[in-house]
Amino acid sequence: MQSLLERIVAIVGEGNVLTGEDVAQRRVDWMSGASCRAGAIVRPANTDELAQVMRLCHAVAQPVVTHGGLTGLVHGGEASPDELAISLERMTAIEAIDPIGGSMTVQAGIALQTVQEAAAEHDLQFALDLGARGSCTIGGNIATNAGGVRVIRYGMMRQQVLGLEAVLADGSVVSSMNRMLKNNAGYDLKQLFIGSEGTLGIVTRSVLRLQPRMTSERTALVACPDFEGVTGLLRHLGRALGGSLSTFEVMWRNHYALLTEESGRNTPPLPARWPFYAIVESLGSDDAANIAQFSAALESALEAGLIEDAVLAQSDAQRQGIWDIREDIEGLIDHLSPLFTFDVSLPIPDMADYADTLERRISERWPKGRMVIFGHLGDGNLHVSVGAGSGDPQTRREVEQIVYGPLAELGGSISAEHGIGLEKRDYLPLSRNPGEIALMRTLKQALDPKGLLNRHKILAPEE
Ligand code: FAD
Repeated sequence: MQSLLERIVAIVGEGNVLTGEDVAQRRVDWMSGASCRAGAIVRPANTDELAQVMRLCHAVAQPVVTHGGLTGLVHGGEASPDELAISLERMTAIEAIDPIGGSMTVQAGIALQTVQEAAAEHDLQFALDLGARGSCTIGGNIATNAGGVRVIRYGMMRQQVLGLEAVLADGSVVSSMNRMLKNNAGYDLKQLFIGSEGTLGIVTRSVLRLQPRMTSERTALVACPDFEGVTGLLRHLGRALGGSLSTFEVMWRNHYALLTEESGRNTPPLPARWPFYAIVESLGSDDAANIAQFSAALESALEAGLIEDAVLAQSDAQRQGIWDIREDIEGLIDHLSPLFTFDVSLPIPDMADYADTLERRISERWPKGRMVIFGHLGDGNLHVSVGAGSGDPQTRREVEQIVYGPLAELGGSISAEHGIGLEKRDYLPLSRNPGEIALMRTLKQALDPKGLLNRHKILAPEE
């Protein structure tokens, strides 16, 4: 690897090839806090430098792992000592904003929050939003097809990308920097890279779709008496808010109670005595009209018995206080560690039974174990957090079987939005049939025949 690194230094400069302590002191992901083990970290400044680096790597069959903000939750950024990490941390430029066409052209290492703020300066909005917004990058969001808290209104990352550019395993550059909303000239190549978790190419630049900025955002925390109330409320708000419903997040009581009354970590806006809590938001452009419509919709939900109580945030601080409960992942780590987290999707009507089954199986197997559930319920997506008292691989395997086991029969997925990475690789056949997996292998073989990009992520090595 040494002579390869010397040639890479000639391309990116000495300070942009990190080795030894400089690598070890970096964390490899947000959740575990483990050290990066890559042989070196290479930090190209632009597409051209990265293409040259990949040409060298391809010539000597050097495997690489791409690093964005490292907030991914499925070990996609993990690299072994014989792999090079390619970090896009220097590729953070905003190249252009087109306020009329509604697009922004960026380098892929830019943070999501920076894009959101730049869009707002032009009275526009970038619709993707998630808790890791300050650290995660657009390249990572593209690679994982990130979801987040506004999918119910705007869709996932797949819907926010108009065009992109990627460097392939052999160093060739595919530039598909389309700015049009409509372009049916053959295959839509950008979609190939979105959600491919860095296994088909390294995304270097992107044209992002911007939306009109919504100036009124109204948030409420509501308590539901039962799961019928939750699903009834979802249908009711979909109708009553006429398309302005932007968030429908649900916390089971076990999650809400743990992070408020039980731990004292967050002040509960409502007492923790109901079985379900939903955070609902309405986005509009006229605040008075939005408040009136939102309040009326919640009032009629109360009258219909879909909700038992509600708090409407009256300030940014109150809104943040509500979201702090939902986003308090540190609280889950503190109280449930060693923590296993899952990101599954399944039909909404099956969720309550699914959650009850998991809770029963976990408490039967580990009497002191604990499971809490929250998620983007409006998108059919639940996050399950389990503390079984041990983090050893055998326990993990048992918990995985309990959580993933029922999904195939329900037509659900082992990954709603976080991807497969290394963590869920062995379970891919639960959510994809043999024909789908065979086509994934064909695509991988066609674009990366030497298997250099994010080696063995998503697809296990063939026996
Ligand atoms: P990384 O973690 O650096 O990488 C993720 C994967 O993408 C890796 O396989 C990596 O190799 C690959 N990759 C990164 N950059 C590129 C690139 N330029 N080209 C090709 N491949 C690349 N996710 C959601 O979907 N919804 C949520 O609501 C959500 N909430 C979160 C909240 C918290 C507190 C945290 C810590 C994470 C959350 N996530 C969520 C997960 C995570 O933030 C997303 O997966 C995010 O898109 C990852 O971006 P990143 O830049 O950190 O990517």
